[in-house]
Amino acid sequence: MPVLPSPMGSVAPASGMGRQLNVSTADGIEGAISPRVQQELDYFKKKAIEQDIEIFEMRALLQSGKGLSNILNLRQLLETFMAVVREKYSAVNTAVLLKDDLENTQDFYRVKAYHGLDERFLHPSGLEESIYMFKFPKNNGLLWQLIHQGNVFSVRDMQFGPRFRHAWQQWNLEVLKSDVWCPLIKSGEILGVLSIGPREDGSQIPESEYAFIQELASIASTNIDSTLKYEKNERILKNIQTLYDINQQIANVNDFKRLCIETLNRAVDVLMTQKGNLMIYNKITKKLEIRVVWGNIPTDVRDDINNGVTETKSFDIGEGVAGTCAKTRKPIRLNDRTQIPQVGQHTVYCIASVPILYGNELEGVINMTNKVTIDENGNKVLDALGRFTDEDISLLLGLADQAAVNLNKARLYSQSITDRMTGLYNSRYFEQMLFDLYTDSIVNKKPLTIAILDIDHFKKLNDTYGHSAGDAMLKHVGSLIQEITRVNSDFMAFRYGGEEFCILLPNTEPAQAMELLEGLRAQVEALRVNHMETELKATVSIGLATSHLEPSDCKEFFERADETLYACKHNGRNQIRHYACGSKIPFQSEGLSQKIRDIYNAQPKPEPGLDEGTSPTVEQLHPFEDLN
Ligand code: GH3
Ligand code: MG
Ligand code: MG
Repeated sequence: MPVLPSPMGSVAPASGMGRQLNVSTADGIEGAISPRVQQELDYFKKKAIEQDIEIFEMRALLQSGKGLSNILNLRQLLETFMAVVREKYSAVNTAVLLKDDLENTQDFYRVKAYHGLDERFLHPSGLEESIYMFKFPKNNGLLWQLIHQGNVFSVRDMQFGPRFRHAWQQWNLEVLKSDVWCPLIKSGEILGVLSIGPREDGSQIPESEYAFIQELASIASTNIDSTLKYEKNERILKNIQTLYDINQQIANVNDFKRLCIETLNRAVDVLMTQKGNLMIYNKITKKLEIRVVWGNIPTDVRDDINNGVTETKSFDIGEGVAGTCAKTRKPIRLNDRTQIPQVGQHTVYCIASVPILYGNELEGVINMTNKVTIDENGNKVLDALGRFTDEDISLLLGLADQAAVNLNKARLYSQSITDRMTGLYNSRYFEQMLFDLYTDSIVNKKPLTIAILDIDHFKKLNDTYGHSAGDAMLKHVGSLIQEITRVNSDFMAFRYGGEEFCILLPNTEPAQAMELLEGLRAQVEALRVNHMETELKATVSIGLATSHLEPSDCKEFFERADETLYACKHNGRNQIRHYACGSKIPFQSEGLSQKIRDIYNAQPKPEPGLDEGTSPTVEQLHPFEDLN
């Protein structure tokens, strides 16, 4: 049998180094062997046994290494790695701590997998924490000097006390119940540490075993490194896809509020967070205002905040986590609940805030709180262990960048459809909305009422008090009109000409619209505007029409209201009329509402009537002359 060269280096026999042993002469010739030969024989027997063990260990190592290299899931990889180590040494417990990506202040090493340790430990803050929250920092101390060297070392002395008392005390390392530590190093970088506990029989792992652990650890380190990179790349790819998808979905949303809601909703969803809010920076008050909230919040509370019904606290720049994020214009993530101010009755485990920046301009802040996980029933539940990762922040920053662009686009769009003097929508938008809402009302068989409002003798007001007085009046009338849209968020008000306004009231029947707008007419009549020590007053005339009372098209629908307005002007101004009532009856009496309702419900066919009355255009078109 040829002598196998030992991989670990062999010890030479006392003599006869390099000599061939004739084994056949040794076998079965009892007593014929000289003591010297017997000594050599024993030596080689022992050597053969040792080599057999070594070969077996190498095979085991090879097998374990192969086993480890096929795993691309970190958790599974660590579990397998620990299982091999435990089995080999009958170790009571093991833990793998890897470099943490949850803190950006200092390098920490955190438990990523464990076996045989308590699930929870007592954090120095007095809180009970999951063992997965156990971490210790990197520093220049003795313990870390040894870790740097990369060799396996014992962390307990002969009396089973800690060898590194200072570190053990400072960082609560007793929690790991370690006997031996094995650094996990790849290309000079410390990925982590494998902690192995004492053996089942209470003995310490002998130093002779360290070589195997070290070899196995070096295979594991290579695999851990590639698995971490693989998982990270997977997450990055997924995030790029997510950002792309979200942008596709919200790129066409032009409404500022909806955009805020959509952005936040998506952020909460993809980051798997419990709740979040989006703050907009008010450049006038210089405060951050919560615009929308989303996530695990009662729906009514959420909607009231998002619709501006409930006012929320606003934050100064520099105040709290969001304020600090706005001030520094840098993302913040806090993953240690002991460092997060706990307000309210729900524990905040982690917070992430990113600024919304458009160029260098601060637009707002997106804030996220706590992580969720999916339980066995498919429900989202709080994940007390979940923390915000580096990739979460990258994703959130990507979303914030998109939000900045989209919100600015929405702002520009909003400016393009808004009349600057009154803040109402402008005529360009009116044309688009009139067509859209009219079509919608016909398709869905729902009444759309249009009201055209014109200030009476406005030219005279301008001529008497000056153009700026006219402007002041326009603004005041404009804000009274704006009030109407607060009655129902579907109502829309436009300034579509100099002193002409239009209100579109979807899903509103004539009587209801008449009552509402009569209120507006009366308010304008009662309005007094103080302008340069002059008290200005004005009246308005309002003409209404309602869709699908009779066949018409969008243009005709508008013209009917316009003609009705003309009838108001013709009949003395400061009044309101509906096309359905022959445009002749100003809104005066209670009975009129019922009359309009009756007509509306009857839905008669149009009958071209010819009347030579005071308002021929309207009269000719109008089917209900008998109401006069
Ligand atoms: P009527 O009751 O029949 O509507 O009479 P009116 O004087 O209101 O109507 P007319 O169309 O004769 O005059 C409208 C005036 O509105 C003329 C124009 O100078 C004025 N105007 C239009 N836009 C503005 C504006 O932005 N500011 C001011 N101050 N005046 C405006
Ligand atoms: Mg006018
Ligand atoms: Mg006019």
